[in-house]
Amino acid sequence: MSFKSLGLSEPLLKAISKKGYETPSPIQAKAIPPVLEGKDVLASAQTGTGKTAGFTLPMLHLLSKNPIQKHRPIRALVLTPTRELAAQVHANVKEYSEFLNIRSTVIFGGVNQKPQVARIRQGIDILVATPGRLIDLESQGVLSLKRVEIFVLDEADRMLDMGFLRDIERVMKLIPNKRQNLMFSATFSKDIKKLAYSILDNPVHVEATPENTAVEIIDQKVHRVAKGKKTGLIIKLISEGNWKQVLVFTRTKHGANRLTKKMISAGITAAAIHGNKSQGARTKALAGFKRGTVRVLVATDIAARGLDIPLLPHVINFEIPNISEDYVHRIGRTGRAGASGQAISLVSADEISYLRGIEKLIGMKIDVEIIEGFEPDPNASTEPIKPGQNRNRGRGGQRNKTSNSRNSGGGNKNANHNRNKNRNRRRNNENRN
Ligand code: AMP
Repeated sequence: MSFKSLGLSEPLLKAISKKGYETPSPIQAKAIPPVLEGKDVLASAQTGTGKTAGFTLPMLHLLSKNPIQKHRPIRALVLTPTRELAAQVHANVKEYSEFLNIRSTVIFGGVNQKPQVARIRQGIDILVATPGRLIDLESQGVLSLKRVEIFVLDEADRMLDMGFLRDIERVMKLIPNKRQNLMFSATFSKDIKKLAYSILDNPVHVEATPENTAVEIIDQKVHRVAKGKKTGLIIKLISEGNWKQVLVFTRTKHGANRLTKKMISAGITAAAIHGNKSQGARTKALAGFKRGTVRVLVATDIAARGLDIPLLPHVINFEIPNISEDYVHRIGRTGRAGASGQAISLVSADEISYLRGIEKLIGMKIDVEIIEGFEPDPNASTEPIKPGQNRNRGRGGQRNKTSNSRNSGGGNKNANHNRNKNRNRRRNNENRN
């Protein structure tokens, strides 16, 4: 199978070969043909499968087939949950459109809107956006979505997790009914299926590799350990293993900061990436990690979602997630594209019940190893950590509720107040990860 046989145009083939891709990934081979035929597509794929090119390449092909219009209305809209993902998708759009007469830009919250507005005013064909900033700029009259022909919803499951359902529904009202829709999601809960049903028209369903297959090729291990000894153990593993590029997950932003400081004190270059960090700090941390000047990136789930870091050799769960699907997302950062990777989880007594939930989801038992000097505490309580202690999740849930209340406020004296309040919430939401 070649990219050429998929029917992509010459300028795209040139950009693909410049990127160094030789063959389409499975999701690309499956998604590109129906998208080129103008069909709606529902794709089950997570980061690392090549999904971005899976929708970007045929989208560019379709847009460039039609004559460019004078004022360049926005003809394709890509909605992503996080600003990192928006920036990455746009970087891909830019690269693949290098030999085409297509203009694109990206907008997201947490940064000054002025440069974004200026670029939009110059006329663009493709807009990559996070929901909050998109709705803000549309309501300010900066942009119109009335001429959108292709709508892409990327990482739909994370969109819902982050409380963006109302915003998605709002965006749907701003784009024409007649359009082509592409929806990508790593997991398919009842809510995702409901959303797909409301957005897509008779979609073709494509799947990368069943998640379990991905899980099976990753070398997974659990170290049972006393809670207070986790930091010592992680430092030992990284130092003695001489690991050069490690992604570590913590449950909270504060936990990420604390652990990062301790690693640095132990002589391991580390950086934290989460919602309390400025965009500049996050970009710098990620760039350092990719370059190899930062050995350890400590991240929360939402911050790590969508990060484009190919072929990570090691992922460590400093704390395992209380949502089993998040475990699959986390370890999916290693063992990509068939290369084997290692996913290690440090599990204390209060996390045992979450571990059992994960094993049930992935349908396998994870090997347990106890390291001398870092044994579990036999007297520790096995009472699970309360989900309320997981700050990211807790707030997301709240936001969902408040965005429901937004609708009931419409039309009365409180409407403006509610709108402003919700706009701020959305901003926080986009700043959060
Ligand atoms: P994505 O799942 O879209 O985040 O892509 C994951 C990584 O795979 C990115 O670094 C892409 O540049 C890379 N990639 C995408 N398609 C291909 C391909 N056909 N061959 C090799 N690498 C690819």
